Amino acid sequence: MKKRPVWIAGAGLSGAVIARQLAEAGHPVEVFDSRDHVAGNCYTERDAETGVLVHHYGPHIFHTNDMEVWDYLRRFGTFREYAHRVWTTVGGRVYPLPISLATINQFYGRSLRPAEARDFIAERADPIAAPETFEEQALSMIGRDLYEAFFRGYTEKQWGRSPRELPASILKRLPVRFSYEGSYFAHSVQAMPEDGYTPIVSAMLDHPGIRLHLSTPLSRAEVPKDAHLFWSGPLDAYFGHVHGDLGYRTLDFEHEIHPGDFQGCPVMNYGDPEVPFTRITEHKHFMPWEDHDKSVVTREYSRACENGDIPYYPIRLVAEKDVLRRYVQAAEGCDGVTFVGRLGTYRYLDMDVCVREALDCARAFLNAEASGVSLPPFVAAPL
Ligand code: UDP
Repeated sequence: MKKRPVWIAGAGLSGAVIARQLAEAGHPVEVFDSRDHVAGNCYTERDAETGVLVHHYGPHIFHTNDMEVWDYLRRFGTFREYAHRVWTTVGGRVYPLPISLATINQFYGRSLRPAEARDFIAERADPIAAPETFEEQALSMIGRDLYEAFFRGYTEKQWGRSPRELPASILKRLPVRFSYEGSYFAHSVQAMPEDGYTPIVSAMLDHPGIRLHLSTPLSRAEVPKDAHLFWSGPLDAYFGHVHGDLGYRTLDFEHEIHPGDFQGCPVMNYGDPEVPFTRITEHKHFMPWEDHDKSVVTREYSRACENGDIPYYPIRLVAEKDVLRRYVQAAEGCDGVTFVGRLGTYRYLDMDVCVREALDCARAFLNAEASGVSLPPFVAAPL
């Protein structure tokens, strides 16, 4: 029996995984991207002058506890073990992140052991039973001194909002450790693709059942009536922004080439509010197995996303959630379209979660097809 055509807006991770899964199941798949390359915001490319692999849209480090996702990605390329480490410069001094025994002892000029440090921080932390905001979460976890030094300024720069308005969930991404373990992430798998993310996504899309259309934006009107559409672009853009704009932060990047080693680590954050950028990435440290004389470094500036800018971080405060509710309602009245990924569901998703949800979404589509029903607009709820 002829399988239903599948059209996909976006050749990033979410779109590519769905495309691959459904092409392997025999569906003819058309993938569109308005950019001239695949891989969305995890796009990597070699810098012509230095040969360094550059994370074009900011640092992307793969980490997961999801073994199905990990096995799936390794079908499309080689990954190498990579433990991400981050430092931060605050008040002219450099400290390790996330907050660990090293950070605490260095910041307070102490030599506390784990149990002593726990007591020491507990004395400084505010006892807040159920922290709701970023600030409450920080004060209850680490107390005011560490919060003010490491989180307040950075977060105001990154989000353009007071941490009193932001949700606790943003800070919950980062652990606090009473040990000298310095790895930025706590997941059991932490890795980098040997040749970057672009070849991995290209390999996914390299299937006889997939036709790729780059530099080709897609609108609903162009999708044939019998096709199912997966939309990984911004949710509000699908509806022509009729219910207002969903708020995002965008990023500006300033690239420079330096001789040798510029900062000695892959990512240096800048917590002080007077420093206009949030962090500096030195790309060659993402691939310690490569050898380069020169270095590409990138300063990252965050600001409100305007018309025509690339959306990166969904803000998801009360006002945005109101707008989101209207789009979710509009989406629920649609048939033949499913919204996926960071932009399609307006959530702050990591790469592994995008892949997990894309795999689930493809599976749900195949089940729906087998039962003769339509896949709903959301497989992962945005609210
Ligand atoms: N954060 C901070 N100071 C730092 C690093 C992170 O205040 O030095 C806060 C900030 O609000 C940031 C959040 O923690 O948005 C999550 O950090 P993560 O490193 O996960 O952000 P990403 O790499 O996704 O931008």
